[in-house]
Amino acid sequence: MRGRLFKRPPFGRQTSAGYRGSSSDVPQPKRRLSGAARRRLAAALAGLAALCLLLGFFAIRYLIAGTPVSPVVSGAIQAQAAGDPVMTGASGDLTVRCLDVGQGMAALIECGGHYMVIDGGGRETSSRFVAILKASGVEKLDYIVVSHYDEDHLAGLIGALHVFPTGRILAPDYRPDTDIFRSYEKMRTAEEVPAEAPARGAVYTLGTAAFQIVGPDGWSAELENDRSIMVLLTNGAHRFLFPGDAEAAGEAEALASGLPLRADVLIAPHHGSRTSSTDAFLDAVSPEIAVVSAGADNPYHHPHPSVLARYEDRGIRIYRTDESGTITFSSRDGVLTVTTEK
Ligand SMILES: [Zn+2]
Repeated sequence: MRGRLFKRPPFGRQTSAGYRGSSSDVPQPKRRLSGAARRRLAAALAGLAALCLLLGFFAIRYLIAGTPVSPVVSGAIQAQAAGDPVMTGASGDLTVRCLDVGQGMAALIECGGHYMVIDGGGRETSSRFVAILKASGVEKLDYIVVSHYDEDHLAGLIGALHVFPTGRILAPDYRPDTDIFRSYEKMRTAEEVPAEAPARGAVYTLGTAAFQIVGPDGWSAELENDRSIMVLLTNGAHRFLFPGDAEAAGEAEALASGLPLRADVLIAPHHGSRTSSTDAFLDAVSPEIAVVSAGADNPYHHPHPSVLARYEDRGIRIYRTDESGTITFSSRDGVLTVTTEK
């Protein structure tokens, strides 16, 4: 692919052919072109040059479209060096584990010995969450992403912050008046890890994988759920979308951004509640697989049957943590595999 990108354009051949012509034994024609002929020749050359430019443009467009690069190519990362793994579509081994944390959400992501968590589940499973991270070989976390500050996403992260040295925290820029938020802030301050509110479109790397913030555009949505940080994770050709607890408004905001949302795996927004997974959103993401992170017999009746039907109607395979336990995706050598463990 890259070789083709650097293939010499037709300009080169023209130049060298022209050079050969003027240096060969063929007698040089005398310059007796009339003004009109010169103009015609100039026009013809200009036309040829325009055609070459056009062909070159479409060739590059075709190569970009046909290469399994990150969707961020059209976004903020465009200015990065050509050797950047995100640009070349290079991929290492990526593991994404959607952990069974009962009624809540937690994901552990590993790429090339780099670790990141997106949410940590609720209080009931917080010590189990830390134990799973330890058993998975985590010694430090490159990133903690706090999708939003609801207890069922935040509580487990407090213990993780205490146990594991953490590089960066990406978290929304609002401060709810809750005990769990105060506990988190206390721990974060004690561990001296600053929290950054990421801008929509920002791109981060995790080993050879990369992730982009595709929402929200600010932190003023009426519902806190709609302020959830939405993350699109890319490893080679494989993409995973983590929309937190975004509801219809959060989904609409992500759609309006114009950023690519297509993903192979979608974590069902807001545990598969009926106020999320709108048709327009599912059409844009168009996943092969959806993961519902929900507790068995939870009082919220997540996931909602009408939402499950929406997924099933589209032929999207559904994995549920309440039925299958922890769901692990492995992206390796261009192959995506899924395993479950209870
Ligand atoms: Zn939640």
